[in-house]
Amino acid sequence: MDTDFSTHEVTNQPSPLVDYNLFTSNQALRAALAFNAPRLDTAGLDTLGQLLGTSRMQAHARMANVATPQLHSHDRFGRRIDEVEFHPAYHALMAEAVAAGLHGSPWASAHGDAQHVARAAGFMLFTELEPSILCPISMTYAVTPALRGNPRVYADWSAGLTSRSYDPRLAVWRDKPGLTMGMGMTEKQGGSDVRSNTTRAVADGQDDWGARYRVTGHKWFMSAPMCDAFLILAQTGSGLSCLFLPRVLPDGSRNAIRIQRLKDKLGNKANASSEVEFHGASAWLVGEEGRGVAQILEMGTLTRLDCALGTSGLMRQALGIALHHTSQRQAFGKPLDAQPLMRNVLADLALESEAACALSMRLARAFDRSDLPQERLLARVLTPISKFWICKRGSHFAQEAMECLGGNGYVEEGGEGVMARIYREMPLNSIWEGAGNIMAIDLLRALRKGDTRDVLLAELSAARGAHAALDHLLDALPHRMEAMSSEIEARRLSQDIALAMQACLLCQTAPTAVFDAFCDSRLAGNWGQVFGTLGSGLNLDGILARARPI
Ligand SMILES: Cc1cc2nc3c(=O)[nH]c(=O)nc-3n(C[C@H](O)[C@H](O)[C@H](O)COP(=O)(O)OP(=O)(O)OC[C@H]3O[C@@H](n4cnc5c(N)ncnc54)[C@H](O)[C@@H]3O)c2cc1C
Repeated sequence: MDTDFSTHEVTNQPSPLVDYNLFTSNQALRAALAFNAPRLDTAGLDTLGQLLGTSRMQAHARMANVATPQLHSHDRFGRRIDEVEFHPAYHALMAEAVAAGLHGSPWASAHGDAQHVARAAGFMLFTELEPSILCPISMTYAVTPALRGNPRVYADWSAGLTSRSYDPRLAVWRDKPGLTMGMGMTEKQGGSDVRSNTTRAVADGQDDWGARYRVTGHKWFMSAPMCDAFLILAQTGSGLSCLFLPRVLPDGSRNAIRIQRLKDKLGNKANASSEVEFHGASAWLVGEEGRGVAQILEMGTLTRLDCALGTSGLMRQALGIALHHTSQRQAFGKPLDAQPLMRNVLADLALESEAACALSMRLARAFDRSDLPQERLLARVLTPISKFWICKRGSHFAQEAMECLGGNGYVEEGGEGVMARIYREMPLNSIWEGAGNIMAIDLLRALRKGDTRDVLLAELSAARGAHAALDHLLDALPHRMEAMSSEIEARRLSQDIALAMQACLLCQTAPTAVFDAFCDSRLAGNWGQVFGTLGSGLNLDGILARARPI
């Protein structure tokens, strides 16, 4: 009977991109690792890359985004519970991310040689599978430097925050083999300008964790509300302060955190993002009273690194799917990737993807070497540059990669539907953890210190003489950085420093085909306003061969 409805045979539709090793097939990432961590044993990344490419993990990623988190404010008897229920696929993804140490491996390792770089590579690979569950993973990774501001809480929580066991239960910290943490800064009246926070914290005595407070107020965005604890900002008598707020109190009772709603978001569907209220919730001071912004920014700095890594991972995923599809889909008598103009688009995307990978991995290295003053300064300046530029490029990139798949790119179904998910996810890394303008303005703040400018210029000097257009930009940068007095040009400066840094890194890590085409297009002006406008005469074969996922 079926044949009555079969008018045709299905042809010219690509096979799914599945069962391949995300790590071994990623030459740009492997080059960045060889550059930033030449002695790193990559066996763990190889295993992770293999796992993340399987159909089983892809199915978990799909289900976690289809069966989205549900808030249960009350139980069926009417008691307040404030629980978020997740599909088992979400927990399966979380368990693998924790098992891979993406939530804290650098803090667990006694001799941390290149541990941030190794973890960054794993984070980027995992993003290719599913980015939204990485929100609590990223926040847990990022919290350690800030949480050390309360040594007693840190002593109790650090083992759980770095353990490789995932435990989603709501229970007191000491009964859990694994812990996660989130952050609450943004309020209704202000997110970038957190000084406008109205949440209040009133002193409530001292105990084993130091100065305790009672917190009353709200947060307009607080992602992953099922985390075991949060760092939040609240006003004390001395000003905005950073506080540690657990969901379950040391005596086993629930803290007074009310989840009002979950956000209905454009993308990032597997992750719950909530609006919360604190009704006299107990919290403990972290760092000094009145120095809360500086304290919590120690966490924000690392989540910003993850925004750059995450977008680089999404770019790589979109590029891989586009390359795979266009190698199998034919139009006008040959594969799409044999059509000259499609080759231009794909090669242009490949340049962008490799440049993003190179820059974000270099930033990760700066955190590994924070024992060196110059690397600390570099981390300070490369964080806003990377977060600004890479995340800004993400949405354009996703749109163009999606278009390589034609109509298939725009549908939600099946493996190809991942493109729609990537596209919806892309703007987020640019918005949260400090939106674009905030990053560009932060760069100006960082550049006010002469030492920082010197360190950046020394880093850029590694590529002196490699390309005339890069030299030209490097000649101009010292004056532009020193003379920059108005915020109005901050985006332009951020963009140009990012491009110079990316070119400089590609000069050291990528084949000539990639470096030349990057400089020719991005620096020498031989380029248009959209992807696919590379000039003629470039080695597109070399660029494409390097980028292919399989
Ligand atoms: C899905 C999602 C999850 C989130 N999860 C969390 C979370 O877990 N915890 C948390 O604390 N927050 C979270 N946020 C909030 C996020 O960090 C903020 O939305 C972000 O920091 C921007 O703040 P805002 O929304 O108040 O926008 P605003 O501060 O109003 O900014 C709006 C725009 O104005 C620009 N702007 C602001 N000041 C200036 C200026 N001086 N000059 C030029 N331009 C300026 C900004 O760049 C931005 O483009 C989340 C957001 C989203 C979308």
